[in-house]
This record gives sequence, C-alpha cells and structure tokens, in this order.
Amino acid sequence: MSSAIDRIAEWAAQAQRGVAFTGAGISTESGIPDFRGPNGFWKRNDAAKFTFQNYVADPEHRKERWRQAVEGRSFMRSDVRPNAGHTALANLERAGAIRGVITQNIDGLHQESGSTKVLELHGTAKKIGCLDCGERWPAPVILERVVAGEDDPRCTYCGGILKSATISFGQQLPEDVVEEAHRWSLDADFFLVVGSSLVVSPANGFPIVAKRRGAKLAIVNREPTDLDDIFDEVIHDDAGPTLTAIVERLEALSPRRPL
Ligand SMILES: [Zn+2]
Repeated sequence: MSSAIDRIAEWAAQAQRGVAFTGAGISTESGIPDFRGPNGFWKRNDAAKFTFQNYVADPEHRKERWRQAVEGRSFMRSDVRPNAGHTALANLERAGAIRGVITQNIDGLHQESGSTKVLELHGTAKKIGCLDCGERWPAPVILERVVAGEDDPRCTYCGGILKSATISFGQQLPEDVVEEAHRWSLDADFFLVVGSSLVVSPANGFPIVAKRRGAKLAIVNREPTDLDDIFDEVIHDDAGPTLTAIVERLEALSPRRPL
C-alpha cells in the first residue's frame, strides 16, 4: 500500500488542476452514519415518506421533521467535528494539489476543516431556506424558533415553507453546482475519490469524464466499488490515516509548497 500512497502523492505534487470527490465514507470517521448503509438513516426510517413533494404537501410531516431536527435525530446535528481526512483535503487544496472538493455530503465538515472551494451536490444541512423567496438562515436560527414553540416555522419575509437546504428525494440537484463539478472533472489532471461507493448519478460520471480526458485517478474507499477497474490506484482503507499519509509524502516531495 505504501507504493500506492507514493504514486498518489506524486500525482498530487504534479497536479495543476486536481480535484477531490467525497462521499459519506469520509464523514463516518466523524461519527456521522452512512445513511445508505446497513445501519443508515434510510434503514431506520420510511424513505418513501421523505420526498420533497410530501414535505411541501403535508404539514404533519414537516412538524415531525422539525421535531427530529431539534432532538438531534436528523442530519442537522451540530455535535460533529471534521476528522483527519477532511483536514488532509484542506491541506491538499492549500498546497495547490487540488482546486477544491466536490462532495455528496451535506454536513459542512469540509468548510469547517478549512477547505475553501466546496461544491455541495446535495446541498447543506447547515442552512435552512425559504422554498418561496429563497432567503436562507443558519440552521440554529430556525431551530431555536422550533424549540421556542413554532411547530411549522414559516419565512419571516414571505410566509413561505422553510426547509433544510439539502436536496431531498424528488428534488432537482442544483444545476449550477453540477455544471461546475462537470467542468472541474473535464479539466482535471488528477482526480481523487474518497469515501464514495460511486453508485449514485451524477457522482459516478465525474471520474469517468476525468479519466477520458487523461486524468490520473485514485480512490480511497473502505469497500470495493463497481468502478475500481478504471482507477489507476485503489486503496481499500479508512480515509483519515490514508490521506494523512498521502499529505506527509507530498510534503516530503514538494517542500516548495509548504502546507
Ligand atoms: Zn420567503
């Protein structure tokens, strides 16, 4: 495995337009369950109920969701912290090895660890927005209103329905974000996937696009994926220690780009 780390670090050192792509696997080391996994949120909750259409149509469903949120039974948790994997990716950006991170995660942990360019394909649980006028608030601002007694809080400007700024089932992915992620992938000379099983579209398309344009592809994921064959290096291990080792190797290779 050390030779795989060496090779990935060399690609990182040479990269001009590197890209990292992350999924739930990088955040499980922060204690956030992989909600698609065997013990995940969708195994414990009725996924069919959690559609965007149901949220808009059913006030009782919204009230239940707000109750879950203030009781810490949802993605809007505030008690989780970035781990070594997030820190390593922030360091790769600082070193110029990647231009930023494309992520499927909604936990905001990349930004918290110092990544400045993050494309959030599935939105963010750190914000709550109005579905009518688009106004947004930090999540705690609205959750405080729920705790104070509003069971279905509304927009203070237009009265519209409020919802976590995450993308629900039945809701379109943000087009501008997807397009930007596609451009990064087209342009990439180094593409590093971390903690994603690459089963959800359009996620699985990005490394394929990058590969076709000649990028070096590496994946760090605990489990094998259906796309492992297209990667130039595959490491089946935890993100934190593996990425930390890659960054240490990169520092040794390119002392002129201090972290
Ligand atoms: Zn509004």
